[in-house]
Amino acid sequence: MIPFAVKRWVYYSYQKGRERMFGCIFCQIASHEKPAKILYEDEQCLAIQDLHPRAPVHLLLIPRKHVTSLNDKLEGDESLLGHMLVIAARMAREKGIDGTGYRTVINTNAEAGQTVFHLHIHVMGGRVMKWPPG
Ligand code: AMP
Ligand code: ZN
Repeated sequence: MIPFAVKRWVYYSYQKGRERMFGCIFCQIASHEKPAKILYEDEQCLAIQDLHPRAPVHLLLIPRKHVTSLNDKLEGDESLLGHMLVIAARMAREKGIDGTGYRTVINTNAEAGQTVFHLHIHVMGGRVMKWPPG
């Protein structure tokens, strides 16, 4: 007979596996397998410094679980997405760009410029932004 603790561990590992995408850089950062400058993290999401910043402040909000893009079926993930926006605003406040202004951007698929296919919200500020974005 398999002990309950083992069953629970197997189930937990299975669920964790389902939330990750093999070889995805942001999944690897979320699980601390790959390095990144982590500015904030909780059980749902993390905020990291963008590796190639395009503004004086440029960070990324990343859900812990693997979501490819906004094109995924996200019904049921409303609270996660809302939470990420709340944390984005908190990070902007902490970086001191809430008053001057900042941009929150989600690129979806190739023509919008998505290059990492794990959903992320860019938070950019510290300089004047152009509109419309190029
Ligand atoms: P996007 O083009 O909208 O998919 O944005 C991807 C962003 O992820 C870009 O701004 C990259 O500079 C950033 N990026 C890619 N790899 C890493 C990494 N390992 N750590 C931090 N940021 C990264
Ligand atoms: Zn991922």
